[in-house]
Formats: sequence, C-alpha cells, structure tokens
Amino acid sequence: MEKIYLEKYKGIIFDLDGVIYDITEAIKKAVDDGIEKYQLENVNRDDVMEEIAHLIEEIQNYPVPKILLNSFELLQVKFLEGISFFKKLRVAIFLFNQFNKYKEEESTIFKGVDDLISKLAKNVKLAILTNNKSQYAEEVLEKFNLIKYFNTIIGFNDVSEVKPNPEGILKILSKWKIKPSEAIFIGDMTTDVDAGKAANVKMICVASGLAQKETLKKHQPDILVEDTKQLIQLFNI
Ligand SMILES: [Mg+2]
Repeated sequence: MEKIYLEKYKGIIFDLDGVIYDITEAIKKAVDDGIEKYQLENVNRDDVMEEIAHLIEEIQNYPVPKILLNSFELLQVKFLEGISFFKKLRVAIFLFNQFNKYKEEESTIFKGVDDLISKLAKNVKLAILTNNKSQYAEEVLEKFNLIKYFNTIIGFNDVSEVKPNPEGILKILSKWKIKPSEAIFIGDMTTDVDAGKAANVKMICVASGLAQKETLKKHQPDILVEDTKQLIQLFNI
C-alpha cells in the first residue's frame, strides 16, 4: 500500500465526523428506527446513510427559521421520495432526535486515531475542517482530550461556502502560509473529496461507513483507505 512520507508535508487537515469521531452507529440506529416507525419499506439503509448524514448536519447547523424556509428543498432527498411533505418533516425531525439520543449515548472516537493525532502533531501542524459548528468540534475534541493538538478549527460558521467548496482548506493553508502541495486533507464524504481536490492538496479518503466506497471512488481521492487502521498504516510513524 502507498505510504505517506511526512517530510514532504507541513500540515494536515482533518474532517471530524467519520474521520476522528465515529457517528456511524448513531446514524445507522436512527435510520433503522425511522424505517421501522414510518414503514419506509423501499429504503436500503446503506444507500441513504451519506444523504442522512448531510441532512442531519444541515438541521444541526441552521437556525430554525432557516430550516423552515428551506425545508422543502432540504427534504428533497432520495430517502424520502414519494411521501408527503408533512410526513417528510416528521420523519426528518424523528431521525434528528434519534440521532442526537444515540450520539450522546454511544459515539466515540475511532480506535487508534488519538495515538495517530498525537504522533502527527509532533511533525506537522494540524487543523479541523468541519461542516458542523466549530463549537461542536471543540466540544468533541475537548471530551477526548485532543484539542491541544489542533492549532486551527474551522466550522461552517467560519466560511462563506462549506465543503465541497475548498474555501475552508484554502483559509487554513493561507493561515499556515503553506502551499497546497505541502498539505493533506483527510475526510470521509464525497464533499470532502471534492473540496480536497479543488484545493489541490493530497486528498486521503477514509471509507469509514457513512458513504459507500464505490461512490467515494468515483470522486477520485488520491488515496482511499477502508478504515482507521489502514489510515494509520499509511503514515511512517
Ligand atoms: Mg465527515
């Protein structure tokens, strides 16, 4: 397998959910509950996970008036195709509540990722780029004692365009005064891959569960790994 030689790089940018913080189980359980409660028989859970993750992210970040104003568009998802608008709303709110419940109860960081982060921090600068609120990222990193390793945390509130727009990545590079070729971005969604490629950094994608591996492959990340274990093996540390 390809190796990353850290001498070539000055900074690494991490996405949070799905790369450091494992919310897959919480989303899976929320989707399963939604399918059961609303009898969404034609839905294949694994096909809709990425879509639901994006939907939850948007609901999480926007103020209620904005959600209401945009709800018709927001709910134009494959998962909820063919059902009435009001039922869509009910399902989305239910999913969101279930997700939050499960996330509180059982989400944790991926095994070994804390060790990887502490080793990388000795060699390069580290940043977080999430489409969530930066405050959410800070709370998660605080909880797992990782915040000290990150010199920059950028959330949706710090940029005008979220991923797949490369703005967040470019903002971090300019803060660090480094070139795209000196940076790595690690993400788990197609939006991450597109952002990384548009910014011209080395794009590593971890297929940790929310997005389908085949879908991710189509977006052509520089490196695609199956899980955190393979991600750790990429680095010569
Ligand atoms: Mg993610």
